Amino acid sequence: MRILKLGGSVVTDKDRPFTPATGNIMRLADEIESSGPQPLVVVHGGGSYGHPVAKEHSISGGLKRRDQLAGFSRTHQAMVELNRIIVDALLDAGVPAFSLSTSTFVTTTARRVTELDASIVRALLGHGMVPVLYGDAVLDTQQGFAILSGDQLVAMLAHTLRAERIVMGCDVDGVYTADPKLARDARLIPRLSLRELDGMVRIGEALNTDVTGGMLGKVREATGAVEAGVEVVIVNAGEPGRVGAALRGEKVMGTVLIL
Ligand code: ADP
Repeated sequence: MRILKLGGSVVTDKDRPFTPATGNIMRLADEIESSGPQPLVVVHGGGSYGHPVAKEHSISGGLKRRDQLAGFSRTHQAMVELNRIIVDALLDAGVPAFSLSTSTFVTTTARRVTELDASIVRALLGHGMVPVLYGDAVLDTQQGFAILSGDQLVAMLAHTLRAERIVMGCDVDGVYTADPKLARDARLIPRLSLRELDGMVRIGEALNTDVTGGMLGKVREATGAVEAGVEVVIVNAGEPGRVGAALRGEKVMGTVLIL
């Protein structure tokens, strides 16, 4: 059982609102198709679909005014639109993908997942299908609604479904000693020990309008999964072949998270 996270920076052009990264999406669909028969769940991020809409309506801070309700729905709709593009590409590549709206089976409390009904995901996997979920605008028992990041969702699913491996595809080669987009002397860390993380790395916040935390958020969210014995590898999904290799369990350029 494998879970693949495709970052918003991989499946969209983060600088242009509502712009899919069509080339990446089609290539990744082929890599997924040829990655082997083991069960797979795909989770994607929001990029230039979900994030700008969520930000415009202050969704992550919760429900404060009635006029945010339409914004809550529009954030979800933006994700539905991106999800459709990704699922269609997977189907065209021959992957039996099936779209699931995260907000219909997950709720949070103070922005953390407290309810996740994985029965439909399990049933789809049982039929050999590939459920395709996404970070979403979800109902929150404390603040009305919230933004659930794809990264948090992946970690929770890995736990619930007892996944063997999580592959996190993003737009850099892995975790560096500093944000590689800002620091020229940043070095890739092939094996990142979570115990040694504090003080060792300056994992900055992501650029642009991402409201859910960049590389630091990714590593933090994955920590629980690593502790539960899940293999977590972070690779550059913009580089052809790396996601495919990581899904097959082959050695690939990237960062493996260890205890
Ligand atoms: P995604 O949209 O793929 O989920 P994010 O954009 O949220 O990913 O986070 C990945 C980004 O985090 C990278 O593109 C990079 O600019 C930034 N980043 C900050 N610090 C680091 C670091 N130490 N190593 C790698 N990337 C980092």
